[in-house]
Amino acid sequence: RAQRERTAAQQPARSADGQRIEVVANVRHAADTADALAAGAEGVGLLRSELLFEQRSSAPDEDEQIAAYAAVARCLGQDRPLVIRSLDVGGDKPLSYLPLPREDNPFLGQRGVRLSLAHPALFCTQIRAVLRATQGHRLHLMLPMVATLEEFRQARALVAEQAEQLGLAMPSLGIMIEVPSAALLAEQFAREVDFMSIGSNDLTQYTLAMDRGHAQLAQHADALHPAVLRLIGLCGDAVKRNAKWLGVCGAMASDPLAVPALLGLGVRELSVEAPAVAAVKAAVARCYLDECRALAQQLVELDTASAVRARLSEFQSRAH
Ligand code: PEP
Ligand code: MG
Repeated sequence: RAQRERTAAQQPARSADGQRIEVVANVRHAADTADALAAGAEGVGLLRSELLFEQRSSAPDEDEQIAAYAAVARCLGQDRPLVIRSLDVGGDKPLSYLPLPREDNPFLGQRGVRLSLAHPALFCTQIRAVLRATQGHRLHLMLPMVATLEEFRQARALVAEQAEQLGLAMPSLGIMIEVPSAALLAEQFAREVDFMSIGSNDLTQYTLAMDRGHAQLAQHADALHPAVLRLIGLCGDAVKRNAKWLGVCGAMASDPLAVPALLGLGVRELSVEAPAVAAVKAAVARCYLDECRALAQQLVELDTASAVRARLSEFQSRAH
């Protein structure tokens, strides 16, 4: 079966009833982009740009960033989508060249887009590099850890300013849904963003108030908790009403068990780790979206993550 899945993985993913679902990959640089394409990924759903910024004594300049992003874009060609996430550091992931104050609660501190807004020169250099490196490609620019509309609007204004200065068009601009406030206000966000992608690792951590790296708690921080599924469902409904799209780029997207739930909640793009591409595409191919929607309605009424898992296992065994 694994061999059959690997062969099928070279085809675009479709549900059993023919709906196109994009199965793309999480990558860090051009080399693992090539690996992801070989595994059947249809593009990049999350370029984690942090690698370029870490373990050095000064920030990479615009040209160095252009070289890195252009290498990924070249690898993908002009037809495959490329979602580049702006710098997602801060708090627990410090950078030696940024004077960050010590924080008592780094996970609730200046991280993600908050850090970019506090250091606009750093952010604007990155945006200019992204825009210049990806002309002619299917770029989507994605902001991490957005909690409020004001943060999104401030970041959007900076992106618009850079695009205008460069004489380039405004790119498709979206947000990660990693903070419950953003999911709860999905309707308001959906009017202004071009897309949303669920960062299920952080969304689970903040919804359940369980540190994702905590030795005792991490095993209970289950993205299949009905509370998390409800938040994803709010996003699915909001993007549908506003003709935008919803993806998932957290670890949950790589779990074939979760696929029917996500499709039923309105997710249309799954950004996965390269080794998971074949199994996730196979899971998509077993799904009828009407059944998935009915399933999702049941799942959000359940009371625990283990009840959700039991229901999904039963669904999976019947779909085989
Ligand atoms: C997430 O939070 O789910 C995510 C994809 O971002 P990261 O794991 O890089 O925080
Ligand atoms: Mg995250």
